Amino acid sequence: MSANKLVNKLLCAHLQSLEPYQSARRLISGGQDWLNANESPYANDFELDCSRLNRYPDCQPKTLINAYAQYTGVDSDKVLVSRGADEAIELLIRAFCTPGQDKVLICPPTYGMYAISAKTFNVGVVEAPLLSDFSLDLDAVQSVKGQVNLVFLCSPNNPTGTVLAKAQVQAVLEHFADSALVVLDEAYIEFADENYWASQLGRYPNLVILRTLSKAFGLAGIRCGFALANTDIIQALLKVIAPYPLPQPVAQIAEQALSAAGLERTTEQVSTLKNLRSQLAQALAHYPQLVPVGSDKGNFLLVRTNKRQALMTYLIARGILIRDQSKQRNLEDCLRISIGNQEQNQRLLAALDSFFMEHA
Ligand SMILES: *Cc1c(COP(=O)(O)O)cnc(C)c1O
Repeated sequence: MSANKLVNKLLCAHLQSLEPYQSARRLISGGQDWLNANESPYANDFELDCSRLNRYPDCQPKTLINAYAQYTGVDSDKVLVSRGADEAIELLIRAFCTPGQDKVLICPPTYGMYAISAKTFNVGVVEAPLLSDFSLDLDAVQSVKGQVNLVFLCSPNNPTGTVLAKAQVQAVLEHFADSALVVLDEAYIEFADENYWASQLGRYPNLVILRTLSKAFGLAGIRCGFALANTDIIQALLKVIAPYPLPQPVAQIAEQALSAAGLERTTEQVSTLKNLRSQLAQALAHYPQLVPVGSDKGNFLLVRTNKRQALMTYLIARGILIRDQSKQRNLEDCLRISIGNQEQNQRLLAALDSFFMEHA
């Protein structure tokens, strides 16, 4: 039997309609200005000790766990390290949702992996779309109590750059206290003005916070993320994690990124990027054809333009790739621009100048 026939015969029914994930990397090759995946424009140097590469790595390397615990002010038994925050999303679904039976709640427009992960495990997805100002529709969220095991919230939200009000998150945590875990994705927390929820794990047994080294720390390439939650939740996630999720070189690099010198460097780079973010926002405001959407609390900006397709094509021809978000709910004609370094932002603005000159 051909592989194709065999696959059609054996492939799980719930996977038949799924497409492989179109990651930012797969879209085009070439190009110099990758402003489409919210990566850091800074590639930092690290040292590698290869003397133990013949040994299997620790599942949860203690020095790394302690370093991240200290960075967040959370006890180390409330920290789990994973292969990117994406793996933590998957672990939560596998640990807490029974396939073909349980459901998760998402609040679109938001990060795509919550729904993708759920679907790959045959777990249902219920939606409570954000309101037009991208705040939570609390009535809609609360109305699914008893139907969902996980509630995914993202703040700052990708791709709207908006932060959820404390009172809203608190209301969700309390409403689902006996029935669901509330997963607060803080992948962009270093770019926000306030970092509050990590200090609240003691008060909310059902709170799970997701973090990553992929954005502010400039380490998307090593795949290292964290879940912060009460010990019993961490222990449940350890039941489903792979025995060796974190390659030894990843742990070494992550530990260096979380050293005093590493943290200082990240703080400087975040502060530079926040300045570049406001400069870019001001520059974009000069184009009447670009309407800002959402807020700027991540390392990216979202704009709406009725020239979306022409603009994307024009930028790609000039080696600049930004992210089309127009398929997301309530984001018709929206494009997301990651904050690059000074030169990248300037090349983008020069390209916008000539594009809008031609398309005035
Ligand atoms: C980038 C991103 C992630 C993924 O983080 P990794 O650690 O690279 O897997 C998770 N959540 C949101 C909202 C993101 O934008």
